[in-house]
Amino acid sequence: MPTETFEFQVEARQLLQLMIHSVYSNKEVFLRELLSNASDALDKLRLEKLRDDSLDADVSDLHIEIDIDKEARTLTVRDNGIGMSYEEVGQLIGTIANSGTATFLKELREAQDEAGAEGLIGQFGVGFYSGFMAADEMTLVTRRAGESQGTRWTSRGEATYTLETVAEAPQGTSVTLHLKPADPENQLHDYTSPWKIREIVKRYSDFITWPIRMVPEQADGDSTPDPETLNSMKALWARSRDEVSDDEYHELYKHISHDWREPLETIRLQAEGTFEYQALLFVPAHAPHDLFTRDFKRGVQLYVKRVFIMDDCEALLPPYLRFVKGVVDAQDLSLNVSREILQQDRHIRMMQRRLTKKVLSTVKDFMAKDADRYATFWREFGPVLKEGLLTDTENREAIIAVASFATTHSDDEPTTLARYVERMKDGQDDIYYITGESRQSIENSPHMEAFRAKGVEVLLLTDGVDEVWVDAVGEYEGKKLRSIAKGAIDLDGKGDEKADEEREKQAEEYAGLLGWMRERLDDDIKEVRLSARLTVSPACVVSDAHDLTPALENMYRAMGQEVPRTKRILELNPGHPLVKGLHQAYEASEDRAELAESAELLHTLAVLAEGGQPKDPARFVKLVADRLERTL
Ligand code: ADP
Repeated sequence: MPTETFEFQVEARQLLQLMIHSVYSNKEVFLRELLSNASDALDKLRLEKLRDDSLDADVSDLHIEIDIDKEARTLTVRDNGIGMSYEEVGQLIGTIANSGTATFLKELREAQDEAGAEGLIGQFGVGFYSGFMAADEMTLVTRRAGESQGTRWTSRGEATYTLETVAEAPQGTSVTLHLKPADPENQLHDYTSPWKIREIVKRYSDFITWPIRMVPEQADGDSTPDPETLNSMKALWARSRDEVSDDEYHELYKHISHDWREPLETIRLQAEGTFEYQALLFVPAHAPHDLFTRDFKRGVQLYVKRVFIMDDCEALLPPYLRFVKGVVDAQDLSLNVSREILQQDRHIRMMQRRLTKKVLSTVKDFMAKDADRYATFWREFGPVLKEGLLTDTENREAIIAVASFATTHSDDEPTTLARYVERMKDGQDDIYYITGESRQSIENSPHMEAFRAKGVEVLLLTDGVDEVWVDAVGEYEGKKLRSIAKGAIDLDGKGDEKADEEREKQAEEYAGLLGWMRERLDDDIKEVRLSARLTVSPACVVSDAHDLTPALENMYRAMGQEVPRTKRILELNPGHPLVKGLHQAYEASEDRAELAESAELLHTLAVLAEGGQPKDPARFVKLVADRLERTL
């Protein structure tokens, strides 16, 4: 096959431009990325051979080689791993398959300034392409295990790359960088210097479990010196805590997670006894942008007796801990274990329980000992962790204990339920909350008025999952969780006879108007009543105690479920001049046409006030415009 030239996808081209003109100061990490890919390729080959012994591949000396040529100014990273087919090279290297990359580029375009761009590179990491930070040309020669022909890929990092088939290629992949001139002022060091390479490998890739060998420069004479192994190859999770530095843990985290930033916490766990395993888990410091998408890859890496078995092993952690990264190395599993078997394995379930408790107790420690760290954690992962309140009844209390919520008690400091309960007023039996899109919209909603007037604290819940867990959990320490936008609310308390009497009298007075309005608004409203929760607004809509809220209805619809429309309750504020006026007009006049419009407007205003949408915006605008016109 002749050499073919291909154009990079637009996204890939933008990414390359970025690498070439990189503002990223830590340029040497390109080597970590190439070594990381090589190590993965070796893992994959070992596993494939294990599953299919007939695969024509040599696994007797799997390793990585770094070969430098000072004269030619090239650096080659070579592995004898799984390799790639012609099609795979086009797919994996020619395009940007990683869905995160498109988001990355979009944010990058928006970031504009260099500091922003640097932060973003760190956030996403860009693997293979990072080679162009140090090279002005890259060549990759690869042969897929089991295939006879190889493939050569070359690019100068501009608009195009070439692909050609090569007859003779060793098993695995070699990536050759044609290095740019060294420019130490811009953090571009001389990567043909053996000591520099040693230093970089030690710093970033020491834990890689395959030997990374440096091929010595060809000396004069016959005797070729042995290659030097640069890494210790010790599995970090098998070493004791005091033998390993934080930096070493962090590099492993970066290797596993493809996140270029430091994790928030490293968690070690060693289980001995009948089912022995070691785990090294990381809590990232930032939520990945695709955490809530369907194809988010969850789970940690599974090793069996130091042999890599799979990425993203979902069976090891519940879905609400899907942000946790790490390695679990089990001693007593079969190397041939499959995902299906893992899901059913009793030991794996025990492991999942133990790991889950360990992560939750780590969060509890943050809370007790390090407020900043806890705040970061909760900001990034609180919305995910709250999913556990629904799905993990066994750990519900532990999750509630580490959960915190925005509250009317403080503008910026969230509260735990425990602290809320401590502050509850005498005679207050329930924990009050309101759900909605944003703090601002719910804080100003009419439902809040009586609570504000009486100084009763309300939790402000704005994550999608809040709509659901509150119902599932129901109560905390015997105190009911109550939505202030649902059911009847009476903050005056029971037993205040004078207030009760007054209200009954008013209800009688207004009975005619309320009944008439209910008929007029029958499509949307099942009851019109006087309100004990309004002090300023004329009206508000509330849901019946056991009905779905509008947000929940929308959520179910978005998930494709059919839900009947729930009618709500309209509450009127008898102290408001508008409501008083309406009452008088109702009593005085026989002509109800004008009044009907007023009732309709009042209802729509109540919907708007809680952040909702008018059912018929055009009609609403017309009614308001007509009224305004008459006031001119
Ligand atoms: P990432 O490693 O984050 O997936 P890269 O751009 O570094 O992104 O690599 C893209 C893909 O190319 C890898 O996922 C892998 O499938 C393939 N690849 C890269 N390097 C090698 C290699 N040395 N051997 C085999 N496959 C490789």
